[in-house]
Amino acid sequence: MMYDIIILGKGPAGIQASLYTARANMKTLIIANGWGSLEKAEKIENYYGLPHPISGEELLHNGVKQTQALGVDFIEDEVVAINGYEEVEVITLHGKYQAHALIIAIGAARKKVRIDGLTKFEGKGVSYCAVCDGFFYRDKKLGILGYKDYTAHEAYELKPFTNDITIYTNGNELEMSSKAKKLIEGMKIVKEKISEIIGTDIVSGAILENDNKVTFDGLFVAYESASGSELALKMGLELDKQSIVVNDKFETNIPLIFAAGDCIGGFKQVSKAVGDGAIAGKSAIEFVRNKKKNL
Ligand SMILES: Cc1cc2nc3c(=O)[nH]c(=O)nc-3n(C[C@H](O)[C@H](O)[C@H](O)COP(=O)(O)OP(=O)(O)OC[C@H]3O[C@@H](n4cnc5c(N)ncnc54)[C@H](O)[C@@H]3O)c2cc1C
Repeated sequence: MMYDIIILGKGPAGIQASLYTARANMKTLIIANGWGSLEKAEKIENYYGLPHPISGEELLHNGVKQTQALGVDFIEDEVVAINGYEEVEVITLHGKYQAHALIIAIGAARKKVRIDGLTKFEGKGVSYCAVCDGFFYRDKKLGILGYKDYTAHEAYELKPFTNDITIYTNGNELEMSSKAKKLIEGMKIVKEKISEIIGTDIVSGAILENDNKVTFDGLFVAYESASGSELALKMGLELDKQSIVVNDKFETNIPLIFAAGDCIGGFKQVSKAVGDGAIAGKSAIEFVRNKKKNL
C-alpha cells in the first residue's frame, strides 16, 4: 500500500507530526522499534499542561493512543535503510513500505560501542555504511562489528563484494532472529571482546582481549540498531556531526524527506521535539498536497 506519509519513530516528535498528518487526512504510517529515550524518564514535570508529574512511559502510551484513535497505522520493526527520490521506500528488517513523503523522528543516536582506536580509523577503513562503502572492499577481508539483526542486514549488504566476512560481536552473544541468522550463514563469528582497533594510516585489524591479533582490510560498524545519522549517510542526507541538517521547514536536503526531534540536534527535550514534529508534519502535508496536484 502506498502511504501519504511515513513517520519513523513513535517518540514525541513522531507522534506530534502524526497528529497533524492524520488530521489533514493523510494516510499515515508510523514505524518504530521501541519507545526511544523517554521510556527511561521516571518523571516529566517540565512539559506544558501537566498538573502532576507523569512518567515518560505514560506520556508515550497516551500519545500513541491519541494518534491511533485518528487512524494512524503502526508497524513495530527496525528500519535499516531508506531509498528513493520520486517516492520514498523504507526498508525494515521484515518488510518494505512506500510513501510520498517521509519524516525521520528516530531520536538521538543510541550509545555507540567504545573501543580504543575505533574513532581514530573512521573514514580510514572503519565505516558505518555498507551500501556506501562496500564497493571499495571487493575481494577484501572484512570485519563487521555487532551482534543484532541490523548487523546481519549490513553483513548481507557486503556479501556481493567479498566472501571473507567475519562478524565481531565484542563479547556479546548473537541476538538475532532466525531470519537474520540465515543472512549470515557461512560467515565467521568471533565473540571475544575487542581491546583495540589497530593500523597505521588505515585500519589493519584488532587486538582481542585474549591478546590474539586478528586482521582485516575494513571494519563495518553495525552495533545495536541504525541511528538517524547512519540512515542519513546511506541516503545521502546532509549531516552536521551526528545530527540531520534541516531548514526552517524541517526539510532535509532531499525534498521529500523531513526530520524532527533529537535526531536533528539542539535542545534535547520533549517540548522542542513536539514543536519540531508539528512543523515537520505541516511541511510534509503541504509537500504531499502539492505533489498530488501535479500528478
Ligand atoms: C532518562 C531521560 C530522562 C529525560 N527526561 C526528560 C524530561 O524530564 N523532560 C524533557 O522534556 N525531556 C526529557 N528527556 C529527553 C526526551 O526524552 C527527548 O528529548 C525526547 O524523547 C526526544 O523525542 P524524539 O521523538 O526526537 O525521540 P525519541 O523519544 O528518542 O524517539 C525515537 C523513536 O525512534 C525509534 N527508533 C530509533 N531508531 C530506530 C530504527 N532504526 N528503526 C525504527 N525505529 C527507531 C525509537 O524506538 C523511538 O520510537 C529525557 C531523556 C532521558 C534519556
